Amino acid sequence: MRKSYKYRLYPNQQQKALIDKTLETCRWLYNYFLAERREKYEKEQKRVSYTYQQNSLPSLKETNPNLQGTYSQVLQDVAQRVKKAFRGFFLRLRNKTGKAGYPRFKSFGRYDSFTYSQNNNSYKLEQGKLRLSSISKVKIKLHRELEGEVKTCSIIVKNSKYYACFSSEVEPKLLPKTNKKVGIDLGLTSFLATSDKELKEAPKTYRKAEKRLAKAGRKVSRRVKKSKRRKKAVILLAKQHEKVSNQRKDLAHKLAKELVEKYDGIAYEKLAIKNMVKNKYLAKSINDAEVNAKNTSQICSECDKQKEQKLQLSQRKFTCSFCPYSDNRDINAARNILKRAEWVGSTLQGAVSMEAV
Ligand SMILES: [Zn+2]
Repeated sequence: MRKSYKYRLYPNQQQKALIDKTLETCRWLYNYFLAERREKYEKEQKRVSYTYQQNSLPSLKETNPNLQGTYSQVLQDVAQRVKKAFRGFFLRLRNKTGKAGYPRFKSFGRYDSFTYSQNNNSYKLEQGKLRLSSISKVKIKLHRELEGEVKTCSIIVKNSKYYACFSSEVEPKLLPKTNKKVGIDLGLTSFLATSDKELKEAPKTYRKAEKRLAKAGRKVSRRVKKSKRRKKAVILLAKQHEKVSNQRKDLAHKLAKELVEKYDGIAYEKLAIKNMVKNKYLAKSINDAEVNAKNTSQICSECDKQKEQKLQLSQRKFTCSFCPYSDNRDINAARNILKRAEWVGSTLQGAVSMEAV
């Protein structure tokens, strides 16, 4: 399957100028191809094909010297993009979904990426640099390993930052069966507790980000409505919110990967977990069971009796009134969740990852 890897690029001034120029050339060509197709359609209700446009590139280069410095594969990809835009247009037209609306021309600065569509030495990683045809060697930060067989490379410019995005063909990793099942509780006292008595804590940075989020929220509510200062605070809140949500996703992914490697079955609370999504990068058939979370923290996971006095939210420890069992409240809950699991449920092909609410 395809997996994409995005890395930050650090081009020098000269390289920046070349990348910007390539984007501008591609934008020009995109608009040119678009106009060509539009005209044909408006006058004759006919289509201009991708092959026709691609084949016209050499002669276009002769009459438009601005195209000459750009790598031909990159230009061909522009024709592909126009083709896709028109395919969408015709599809909307046929299905009469919403306003069909012509594909739009791209205004200055609105074309933010170009693609080397084949891996034939037009780009190559060499000792911390990415060598690009027609641009030269650009410094790249490979913060994680690039795996699989690289198929395409796109250069993206966003908010004046430069990135390389590789699309790579990756073999799914096969995980061995473990014949073990687990119950998990997204805890009050920890990020996640398992029926095997493991408590997974959120890293300090996450807790700190959560605190900053709460603070940003309070700031917004203090400020006068419609004031400039409030607007500013709202922007800050949105940023903080995104940070926390990204961190939580990362953490959930990491923990899910760990669990999937270790267990063949995962039971979880219906209410606490919104989505169990397939993680296509790990191949294993995993059983999952949605469990009704009612009273999982109030019942003893050892003797199944319900506590006489309700366990308050502030109480972190579960101590049974009937048997000698006592444990962390979330671990007790996780053990109950495992007990309640009915494994006849769906079988997911691939691993699971959780997204906490
Ligand atoms: Zn008990």
